[in-house]
Amino acid sequence: MGMTHQPTFDRRAFLAASTALAASAAATSRELPRGTPYAAAGGPLAIASLNGVRSVARAVDLLREGYDPADAVVQGVRIVEDDPNDDSVGLGGLPNADGVVELDASVMHGPTHKSGAVASLRNIKNPAQVALLVLRRTDHCLLVGEGALRFAKSHGFREEDLLTEHARREWMHWRENMSLDDDWLNDSERDTPVGKTWDLLPWQASPAKDTAPRTNDGPNFRDTPAGGAPVEGGPPKKSAARPYIMEVTGTIHCAALTEKGDVASCTTTSGLNWKIPGRVGDSPIIGAGNYCDNDIGAAGSTGRGEANIVTLAAARIVDWMGAGQTPEEACRNMCKYVLDHMKEKRLWRTEGDRRTPTFDLKFYALRKDGLWGGASLWSGGQMAVCDAKGARAVPMAYLYERR
Ligand code: ASP
Repeated sequence: MGMTHQPTFDRRAFLAASTALAASAAATSRELPRGTPYAAAGGPLAIASLNGVRSVARAVDLLREGYDPADAVVQGVRIVEDDPNDDSVGLGGLPNADGVVELDASVMHGPTHKSGAVASLRNIKNPAQVALLVLRRTDHCLLVGEGALRFAKSHGFREEDLLTEHARREWMHWRENMSLDDDWLNDSERDTPVGKTWDLLPWQASPAKDTAPRTNDGPNFRDTPAGGAPVEGGPPKKSAARPYIMEVTGTIHCAALTEKGDVASCTTTSGLNWKIPGRVGDSPIIGAGNYCDNDIGAAGSTGRGEANIVTLAAARIVDWMGAGQTPEEACRNMCKYVLDHMKEKRLWRTEGDRRTPTFDLKFYALRKDGLWGGASLWSGGQMAVCDAKGARAVPMAYLYERR
C-alpha cells in the first residue's frame, strides 16, 4: 500500500507540528541505520499505549524468562484488564448504551503470522487471553458475542459482572442526561433535596459521593452546547438546551520484540463507551487496531476506532515501515492519511483560524530492528516503552497543538 494522497489538513498546524515532531523525535525513537542487525537494538523490548507502563515492564520480564512474545503481550495487558480502576479495558470498563460491558481484543503472532480475536465479549475480564486461545486452538481468526463467550467458558474462564460501581454511576449519569424528552430526570430537572441524600441503590454502603469523570486516551468528554461545536477535553457540562454528550474511549495496545527478533502484538478494550450494543471497534480487527509482520514489526492504535477501520491503519503502518519509514514517520503519516480520508463534516470543527478533528487517534509502532515510535492527532500524548533502560512514559509526535 503506497501513500498516494496529499494531506489536505491545516498547513499551519502541520508546520507547527513538524517542529514539535523534530523536537520529540529524539525522545520517541532510537535512530538505527536501516539494515542494522537486530542484536544492535540491545535486547528484548516492548511498547504500549500510556496506560501500559506496567504492561511493558511485565512483557519484557517475560521475554527475558523466555516466553513467547504473544504470551508476553497478553500477560502484560492483563494487568490493565484486571485493574478495576482503569475504565477503558476489562474489569471496570465503561459499558455500552444498555449498561453492559462488552469487550474486544486481538492478538497477532509474528512467527506464525496468525491472529486470534474476540469481539462483543461479555462477562469475561481477560478478552486478550481468550483471543490468544482463538489464535492457538482454532482454525479461525475472530469469534464474536455469544460464540466467543461459549468458547471462553469451554476453556474454563469464569463469568463475572464487569460493571464496577464507578462505571455504573458514569453510565447512569450519561443515561439520565441523554435527552430532555425522555422520562429520566437529568441534572437540571431534578428537585434539590433539603438535606443529604442516601443513594438507595443496592451498591450503597455509605453515603453517595460524586465521582469525578476520568480522562484517558481518547476524545474524552465532549460538550456539545446547542448550535456550538464540540469542545475537546474538560469535564462534562450540561447545557439547558442540550445535555452534554460524554464520549470516552480507552484501550491498551502492546507490542513486543524478542532478543531473536520475533514480534507479537495485542490490543484490548471495552471500546467506545455508551456504544450501541454489538458495536465492534478497531481493536479486534486485524490490520486496523493491531497488526504485525515478523519480517518488519508491529503497529496498533487507540482512539476513535471508526476512523481506523476505514483506513486499516495498523497494516498500513507496518507496510510503510517495510518500505523504509521509521516507526514515528509511519505513525505520523498515518495520522495525515486518516484526516485526508475523513470526509464526514460532523467530525471536523472550526477552532479560531483552523479546522481540526473532533476526536483523537494514536498510533504505536515497533520495528524489527528495535526502532519504535508513535504519533497522535493531538498534542500531549505519551506512550510506554520498556527496553534495557527500564519502563517509562515518553512523549509522542503529533499533528495539532491543543489550545
Ligand atoms: N479504539 C477503541 C475502539 O474504537 C477505543 C479506544 O481506543 O479508546 O473501540
